[in-house]
Amino acid sequence: MQYDVIVIGSGPGGYVAAIRCAQLGLKTAVIEKYSTFGGTCLNVGCIPSKALLDTSEHYHNAAHNFADHGISLDSLKIDVKKMIDRKNDVISQNTAGITFLFKKNKIDSFEGLGSFVDKNTIKIEKEGADAQEIKGKNIIIATGSKPTALPFLPIDKKRIITSTEALQLQEIPKSLIVIGGGVIGLELGSVYARLGSKVSVVEYAKSIIPTMDASLGKELQRVLKKQLGFEFFLGHKVTGATTKGKEVTVTAEDAKGNEVSFQGDYCIVAVGRTAYTEGLGLDKIGIETEERGNKIPVNEHLETSVEGVYAIGDVIKGAMLAHKAEDEGIFVAERIAGQKPHIDYNAIPGVVYTWPEVAAVGQTEEQLKEAGKKYKTGSFSFKASGRAKASGDTDGFVKVLADAETDEVLGVHMIGPRAADMIAEAVMALEYRASAEDIGRICHAHPTYTEAFKEAALAATDNRAIHA
Ligand code: FAD
Ligand code: NAD
Repeated sequence: MQYDVIVIGSGPGGYVAAIRCAQLGLKTAVIEKYSTFGGTCLNVGCIPSKALLDTSEHYHNAAHNFADHGISLDSLKIDVKKMIDRKNDVISQNTAGITFLFKKNKIDSFEGLGSFVDKNTIKIEKEGADAQEIKGKNIIIATGSKPTALPFLPIDKKRIITSTEALQLQEIPKSLIVIGGGVIGLELGSVYARLGSKVSVVEYAKSIIPTMDASLGKELQRVLKKQLGFEFFLGHKVTGATTKGKEVTVTAEDAKGNEVSFQGDYCIVAVGRTAYTEGLGLDKIGIETEERGNKIPVNEHLETSVEGVYAIGDVIKGAMLAHKAEDEGIFVAERIAGQKPHIDYNAIPGVVYTWPEVAAVGQTEEQLKEAGKKYKTGSFSFKASGRAKASGDTDGFVKVLADAETDEVLGVHMIGPRAADMIAEAVMALEYRASAEDIGRICHAHPTYTEAFKEAALAATDNRAIHA
């Protein structure tokens, strides 16, 4: 064999797996069909969306919040081209970083579409070049996902678009229809609402971010409506979309079964993502994907039905998150090297990078109720936080759910300033099986937003928050 490990796909799952394999002394190759490494996350996902969220947040603060601080600006305007150029530059810095890391770790990289010839042989095809084959003892499939398309709603990539095109718009839409009130819809909807678009969210479920604790969606909906003028159409089943010139019309059935329609100059379809296995030649090694979501089935070691062929990240079951893909990459690398790694899927946080940010880990209140678990809850509002008052970010709260008998922290749900960073402490609490009282007894720097977590934990322990 030429290689101990061949990784197909260089997203956060694939590139992290490759680096860990190399660290463990395994001779490793990565195959990527695009000319830059980093997958969805670095090229058209996490990183570019956060770059645009940061730019639009600065703009929105300058337009609406600076005045409260006594700062006035005369002629505020947004240079869309510069915003997009900066975002592209951020992408380049990050993808170049992966090239550097591959070289540093002596990982061989190949550009082209990787496909199975047999369980140890991968063919690499690239337009304008001869196909080549490489051999590996172990193969890690890390081919990620692509936006889910609705069969009755063709995406023209001009006016009816996915997140990929929404990260490249050359103008600020006057009105933007977002199909799907999930993570992508609310993050990208926020970008354009902050820059002046009128955003309408059409969501099938009864609430936005429906998989998170219900209290978070309720609060986020309230704030996005108040701060950015979002309009929400919940319980709406989209039935189609058409384009005429520069106008898109989306049709839907409301909760009562009435036909309604929405007009906008763009429509983002953000109804989830589907595992990507096109051209991989899974049939050559007898792997069948699941009917729903096209996922590759794996066992508890993330090994497919074919020995020595593993799969990680968005292409397998579970949350479609970069840090989940990364952890699975480490897991498989260590497993191949003969170690006994472990992943606690209950302790994988989820974050929505709106403002306020939303972040959660562990069980939701709805899940605990359904499981019949006895729990207690403690909440603390940012309205009572000195730090939040100082910055003017008083929307949101932290909610701690703890076992009614043992006080063990079972779930933490927060919406508020810097929740994305604050959730790390809650993840640690879950990993080390802390009690709510443990959190309440740990010293938190003052004044910080993190004090809200301590206060919520104190509230859950014995209803003894100090500042509430
Ligand atoms: P991917 O990142 O999709 O990488 C797969 C790679 O495999 C791609 O580069 C693809 O070209 C390559 N490939 C596919 N088939 C082949 C083949 N046959 N041969 C060679 N190469 C192949 N997650 C977060 O955790 N935080 C966020 O803030 C966040 N923001 C997001 C924002 C947006 C707009 C989107 C779309 C997603 C976001 N995500 C976020 C999700 C995150 O991007 C994915 O969960 C993550 O990228 C999955 O990593 P992966 O390695 O499994 O796959
Ligand atoms: P999502 O699953 O978060 O949200 C999709 C939403 O669309 C759901 O609320 C669903 O009820 C709704 N929906 C589905 N079909 C519909 C229909 N026909 N009409 C109206 N609404 C419909 O998916 P997404 O926002 O597309 O994001 C895709 C993936 O990317 C997610 O799994 C997410 O984890 C990941 N992502 C993560 C982040 C982050 O971590 N901050 C950011 C962006 C994307």
